[in-house]
Amino acid sequence: MKWEENVCRVVPYTPGEQPQKAGVIKLNTNENPYAPAPGVEKAAAALNVEKLRLYPAFPEKTELAAELAAHYQIGTDQIFIGVGSDDVLSMAFMTFFQSGRPIFFPDITYSFYDVWANVYKIPYETKALDADFQICPTDYCKPNGGVIFPNPNAPTGVLMPLEKVEEIVAANRDVVVIVDEAYIDFGGTSALPLIDKYDNLLVVQTFSKSRSMAGMRVGFCMGQPALIRYLNDVKYSVNSYTMNTAALELGAAAVRDEAYFRECCQKIIQTREKAEEELTKRGFTFPKSYANFIFASHKTMPAREIFERLKENDIYVRWWDKTRINNYLRITIGTDEQMEALYRALDGICG
Ligand SMILES: *Cc1c(COP(=O)(O)O)cnc(C)c1O
Repeated sequence: MKWEENVCRVVPYTPGEQPQKAGVIKLNTNENPYAPAPGVEKAAAALNVEKLRLYPAFPEKTELAAELAAHYQIGTDQIFIGVGSDDVLSMAFMTFFQSGRPIFFPDITYSFYDVWANVYKIPYETKALDADFQICPTDYCKPNGGVIFPNPNAPTGVLMPLEKVEEIVAANRDVVVIVDEAYIDFGGTSALPLIDKYDNLLVVQTFSKSRSMAGMRVGFCMGQPALIRYLNDVKYSVNSYTMNTAALELGAAAVRDEAYFRECCQKIIQTREKAEEELTKRGFTFPKSYANFIFASHKTMPAREIFERLKENDIYVRWWDKTRINNYLRITIGTDEQMEALYRALDGICG
């Protein structure tokens, strides 16, 4: 058809499978195995549906913004809230990466970055991780149109020390540097304290992983007020009411339940440490992970085969048919019981 010549054509991001059958152990999309905070359940029960008649409040004027500002000890004018961090990141690509020069991100990373770059027609260059899956800061210290990387990186789980993050931010004062901290609460050091010093730094976080609310779609970013203003200007020019009332209220309840949040992150860190031992015993190697997953390769059995055999056992992990990483499995840290089931299955597959 003639009109197809003018269609925006992109290869969409492929999320991990969401099997609908009961009894599946899902270790494939980095969801949190624990329920949202008890305060979230209470807030959901108390939600007044009469309020849904009205358009939602603007996120920056809500209790969620106030709770986040108090929690991270910044101003509400330093926070932008979106529909998951995917929405925040997509807005940030649209807002900050318009120079026409290529933006830089790692060759092995969150596979949404090239999708957004393509859909917004932003040129990009990928920079190869080293043999240990580390980001080399000097690769990012050359002229570019902006920089983005996750820390810890996905799907490797590798954490970059804060000094190196700062090195990249400091070397790129003329462009915006986005640090995607989707997994920072599982043991990493956030770049947040650097936002006072650097007006070009945007730190992005999400409620999907550490706060067990992937289904609610809440993400946010933090930076100096000027960055946040530009983001809001673009957001209000595209779709003013992105955040729904329920997400705003339940999100605020999640932030208030600080003790539960800390406890859940701690449990996942402990289970991850146990998993390191158990996987090592079974012939796997992996870089040290600071996320809620482990990126593991087996010494003899191909990752694809393990992936398929696990699926036959109703255990889902993630595997990509991509060069450099096609012999790795990304295994989300589940509950201790789920992980025990994984180890038993692995004993049958590669034991
Ligand atoms: C999960 C993830 C996100 C986005 O998650 P949302 O559910 O949209 O908040 C962003 N970046 C990375 C690296 C992720 O793994």
